[in-house]
Amino acid sequence: MTYDRPLSHALAGPPGAAREWRREAACAGEDPELFFPLVERDRDPQVMRARAVCRCCPVLLACRLWAIRHGEDAGIWGATTAAQRRAIRRALRGGR
Ligand code: SF4
Repeated sequence: MTYDRPLSHALAGPPGAAREWRREAACAGEDPELFFPLVERDRDPQVMRARAVCRCCPVLLACRLWAIRHGEDAGIWGATTAAQRRAIRRALRGGR
């Protein structure tokens, strides 16, 4: 998947995807690169800064669900890392 980096993280995503919730995104004014750390570890300072923005976001759950449903495999979405979303998807498939 490619990202439209010049736009905010909140506005990135595939064309035609439901975007209504993105209008409320707390990250709309942030540097999109903040949400795509090179290393997605819980204690990584960039991951922690991105999550701090997410935790103040009124659409955190909508964002997280969108990322899980659409298989977003990079970046911080709804305060989750790609590894966390993969684990959630595996759990939803019954561990497969
Ligand atoms: S939860 Fe985080 S990544 Fe998602 S829209 Fe809000 S601030 Fe942006």
